[in-house]
Amino acid sequence: MPTQPLRIGHGYDLHRLEPTPPEGQGRPFILGGVHIAHDHGPISHSDGDALMHAVTDALLGAIGSPDIGQLFPDTAPEHKDADSAPFLEEAVRRVEAEGFGLENMDITVVCERPKLGPHRDLIVRNLARIIGCTAEQVNLKAKTHEQVDAIGEGRAVEVHAVVLLSGLERRL
Ligand code: MG
Repeated sequence: MPTQPLRIGHGYDLHRLEPTPPEGQGRPFILGGVHIAHDHGPISHSDGDALMHAVTDALLGAIGSPDIGQLFPDTAPEHKDADSAPFLEEAVRRVEAEGFGLENMDITVVCERPKLGPHRDLIVRNLARIIGCTAEQVNLKAKTHEQVDAIGEGRAVEVHAVVLLSGLERRL
């Protein structure tokens, strides 16, 4: 009996946070393509959008593709300061090329500051727009690290993402 093909993928990313200039070298704080006012920001080669990177890797992982670091090396000059949305767009292209579509994704952001609640809906809508899915297919949770370790001290942001894909009906 034929079964509907399913694929699960997990993505993870962490970026170190530093004070923004002039005290440090932190970039503007961007999560899911949304700028969030904060006195710290990521140290990174691209724009340091840990949420976009984790979701990209979850989609790539689900289809057994090379990961974001292999596709978009952080040593490549063309990716310096890069907007991370094209990384996610490429992952979506690869998912569709393999004949799969997104069922849903569940994302957990772990950071002590800033508070993400006020930005949650905008981040979800932005991800849904880039992926080409509905906001209901994207779930976003935010947690603190209870002031423990680097994340809890506000020196890093961490993101976990899980996606479920299902095989699309192929047209003859
Ligand atoms: Mg990253």
